[in-house]
Amino acid sequence: MIQLFLPLNFLGFVYREIRRALTDLENMLGLLNKKPQVTNAPNANTLNVKNGEIAFNNVSFSYNANRPILNNISFKVKAGSKVAIVGASGAGKSSLARLLYRFYDVTSGNITIDNQAISSVTLDSLRKAIAIVPQDTVLFNTTIRENIAYGRPSASDSDIDKAIEMAHLKDFINTLADGDKTRVGERGLKVSGGEKQRIAIARAILKQSPILIFDEATSALDSQAEQVILKAMHEVASEHTSIVIAHRLSTITDAHTIIVLKSGQIVEQGQHNELLALGGEYAHMWALQQQD
Ligand code: ADP
Ligand code: MG
Repeated sequence: MIQLFLPLNFLGFVYREIRRALTDLENMLGLLNKKPQVTNAPNANTLNVKNGEIAFNNVSFSYNANRPILNNISFKVKAGSKVAIVGASGAGKSSLARLLYRFYDVTSGNITIDNQAISSVTLDSLRKAIAIVPQDTVLFNTTIRENIAYGRPSASDSDIDKAIEMAHLKDFINTLADGDKTRVGERGLKVSGGEKQRIAIARAILKQSPILIFDEATSALDSQAEQVILKAMHEVASEHTSIVIAHRLSTITDAHTIIVLKSGQIVEQGQHNELLALGGEYAHMWALQQQD
């Protein structure tokens, strides 16, 4: 009897411990769940892109309630135009791009594309409309061609060839015995930063989205590789609404509007020459970079 009692008592102890552990876990998950999830609004519409005009209207944002990241940001990107966003590291540039793609939702204000609030359209239709060339491109351990095709899995062979051409990848691919069937990654070919970025650009071109975002797409490159990529970006962007986030100001002097972000606020906005003449933040950054 005693022998039976002890194990049962012990089991009771184990049971209570597990219950407590589960309760703790539930509490923890509950806390995590407080972060609002990005989901489709009830009755979300399909985004209808006519021209691809983007507007940020009084947008504020924070990842954590106690630390504001973006503060009352308003600007427009006219259809087919190119807007550059510049500013020190940590200013909030990438966060702006993440909000447009709805990786996160704004804390207040709204973002519209062709006058439709992005929070009211389906995530699927929104993300189809935007192609991002990120700072750190992730390549899959498969062939170069498949890595590009990932941009639009239904693309035809000739569309993929055209994207390769436009991203100035042809010469590089021609140097490889297996051409675009060469595998990248662990056991395959090691691609350089510049080649990786061009693959990302080809992927974005293939996606045929009306809106393009380049997030410091050339910052890791030497100036020769950068020139090639800028040329590719320029050719592609000329047909699209584009947002170019840049560290090196020399790469965005041709933008229709340059937005200078500082600690999550827009401090200056205008064209390159206007901002130089202003003699403020941008002019200061420009002068510093001319010294390098
Ligand atoms: P930038 O692209 O201008 O360098 P970011 O938009 O990446 O700046 O970051 C702006 C601020 O937000 C930084 O202080 C950064 O530390 C913070 N931040 C970025 N991502 C996150 C995140 N996922 N969670 C919390 N804070 C973040
Ligand atoms: Mg960034």
